[in-house]
Amino acid sequence: LAKELAEKKDTAPETIFDKIVRKEIPSKVVFEDERVLAFRDVSPQAPVHVLVIPKARDGLTQLSNAREDQEALLGHLMYVASRVGKDECPEGFRIVINDGKHGAQSVPHLHLHVIGGRQMQWPPG
Ligand code: ADP
Repeated sequence: LAKELAEKKDTAPETIFDKIVRKEIPSKVVFEDERVLAFRDVSPQAPVHVLVIPKARDGLTQLSNAREDQEALLGHLMYVASRVGKDECPEGFRIVINDGKHGAQSVPHLHLHVIGGRQMQWPPG
């Protein structure tokens, strides 16, 4: 399976997030480096709602498509999300990754939601 995934080209149609990465449509950027972009969700579910995405999707339509050679990138995404959370939500925050249909994922480009600025409830809906 690992070999199969490594050789697989990303042929899925690009999403709105590629346009955001290329700055073709505007977003409120919170953090950016060569590998990742963090920007404010256009439909915030809490006072703080930031999305952290890999700039190059490279097959990461969803977390469950991640390849072993992407482990460092996944760690970097989580690290950046933790910095955003720590900066903006001193009392704590939640990081969510929706995967696929049952995960209620709507944009097929991996993204971490950083949500905070209010009390969260558990379990999620
Ligand atoms: P859901 O739409 O069910 O939350 P996802 O986990 O796929 O599923 O999240 C996609 C997120 O992308 C949503 O929170 C949505 O508000 C956000 N979004 C969509 N278009 C834009 C945009 N142009 N700028 C910022 N955020 C966007």
